[in-house]
Amino acid sequence: MTGLRLNIETERWQRHLRAQMQRPGLVPVMKGNGYGFGVANLAGEAGRLGASTVAVGSAQEAKVALREFDGDVVVMMPYFAADPVAREVAEDPRVIVTVAHLGELAALSGVRVLVEVRTSMQRHGISVLELPKVADHLQNVTFEGWTVHLPMLAGGSNFAEAEELGRSARQIAEGPLWFSHVSDDDHKRLVDRCGPDVRLRRGTELWLGDRGALSVTATILDVHKVVKGQPVGYHRRGAPRNGWAVVVSGGTAHGIGLEAPATNRNLRDRAKSLALGAMDAVGWALSPYEIDGRKRYFLEPPHMQSSMLFLPADARPPKIGDEIPVTVRNTIATFDE
Ligand SMILES: *Cc1c(COP(=O)(O)O)cnc(C)c1O
Repeated sequence: MTGLRLNIETERWQRHLRAQMQRPGLVPVMKGNGYGFGVANLAGEAGRLGASTVAVGSAQEAKVALREFDGDVVVMMPYFAADPVAREVAEDPRVIVTVAHLGELAALSGVRVLVEVRTSMQRHGISVLELPKVADHLQNVTFEGWTVHLPMLAGGSNFAEAEELGRSARQIAEGPLWFSHVSDDDHKRLVDRCGPDVRLRRGTELWLGDRGALSVTATILDVHKVVKGQPVGYHRRGAPRNGWAVVVSGGTAHGIGLEAPATNRNLRDRAKSLALGAMDAVGWALSPYEIDGRKRYFLEPPHMQSSMLFLPADARPPKIGDEIPVTVRNTIATFDE
């Protein structure tokens, strides 16, 4: 193995999946990079878990899921008739599309639809004020229920909004309620208050909920002794100290070096780094790779399939072929194996 690998403790991972699937109404979500596993693998896994329905993001992903999974496939991005792939996929009898605009709903016929209710997130959906008009447009479609995608409230509960929107929607038309981002407790309360057919769409907690079952490793591809100031890398920046230039597998093609927009890297953190004389204060970026027990700095930005790290002289240098831990966000990572 010379690439970036996602290691799965299969039995432990599947035990977690089976426990999650005990929850009535749980609908596995698979989209984008398939939470690091790939949409096709997750669709197959969902089938083995006995799921009757899965949810994907896009029409293109629906095609993949339909190949690997025998049940129903919900497309969660709003339906637009202007998209030919969306139109083609919607004709499949196993596909349920999400409609978030009255005009699109009015123009549809012969397909299975979920109608999206706009939440305080203000992303997609028909507003509560316009909801009564939905009833005029359900004759030509198979109505499969209402979808309510709630904001994620840190430490708080979005139960009140979930219940209010669910009730408002069911006054317009009876049908299942499909929620996203509702806690287990709130799910139980919603079933008590809104009726039994409450579905729960989950991705992260399902596939990545037992982090201990998963680990990511990279391979040491090369190790070179360098002295302080010696030019290294594409940009021939001087090495910060005596030590080693270490080349490891994993680069931009794998999502290495990509980060979500920072919310926590504030001035105080930066001042702290500066006070400590840390390498990041003078323009070196800490990498997600761990060698000899510590995260190491990039010598330069990651290349497409490998990265160059600096290892100071007082550390124990690795050997070519050694595997080292690397911390990635599975939702943006692409693995070789
Ligand atoms: C992605 C997505 C989900 C799953 O989100 P997780 O946080 O991964 O559980 C649920 N609902 C909708 C509409 C989504 O787009």
